[in-house]
Amino acid sequence: MRARMVQKLAEGGISNARVLAAVNAVERHRFVDSALVNQAYEDTSLPIGLGQTISKPSVVARMIELLLAAPGAAGGRLGRVLEIGTGCGYQAAVLSQVASEVYSIERLRGLHERARENLRTFRLPNVHLLFGDGMAGFAKGAPYAGIIAAAGGEAVPATWTDQLAEGGRIVAPMVMANRQQALVIVEKEAGRLKQTILETVHFVPLKSGIA
Ligand code: SAH
Repeated sequence: MRARMVQKLAEGGISNARVLAAVNAVERHRFVDSALVNQAYEDTSLPIGLGQTISKPSVVARMIELLLAAPGAAGGRLGRVLEIGTGCGYQAAVLSQVASEVYSIERLRGLHERARENLRTFRLPNVHLLFGDGMAGFAKGAPYAGIIAAAGGEAVPATWTDQLAEGGRIVAPMVMANRQQALVIVEKEAGRLKQTILETVHFVPLKSGIA
């Protein structure tokens, strides 16, 4: 079922072989409730508790493909990556296949702990789960080759652009003037920031503080 899902992602326009291999390597059914296991390989977001959702596979693949298209990545492996919004840990596991280190922050303690539990059996030594407010980024791991957000805010926080490496990319959902969310890319080249707005997306809101 996973192989079929990956084939559909390729048919849907994901062309980076590393991204497809990474999605193929991670058993998504291990991240959802047992009652939802039969839907784990459908291209849909699913509830993971505390009002949050596991992202749609096509969106996870699309965002990681955009990260890998950063000028500094040259389509290959990424260095250190920061993820805001660990949720159940699925995307962190996929990222671990394409990045040297993954720092993933979650603001809800219950989900941070669930992700730790979910990821235990995968034994991914390059995934570092952090409990805290991702709006502040994680300065200790900076600079990052890529920053990816799984929750959409009103703007891309300056802390993220500060913690982004030269040639790196931020890929994040952001609320637009029409109140819809769109995927945004922020690139840093020669110290300058360049923002590109892409397609409409639907993510849970980026919230400040911990709970
Ligand atoms: N990456 C997950 C998606 C989780 S949904 C996956 O693989 O499916 C997005 C998550 O972002 C939620 O768990 C939510 O609690 C979290 N979140 C929202 N605002 C945040 C913030 N400021 N810092 C850290 N996590 C945040």
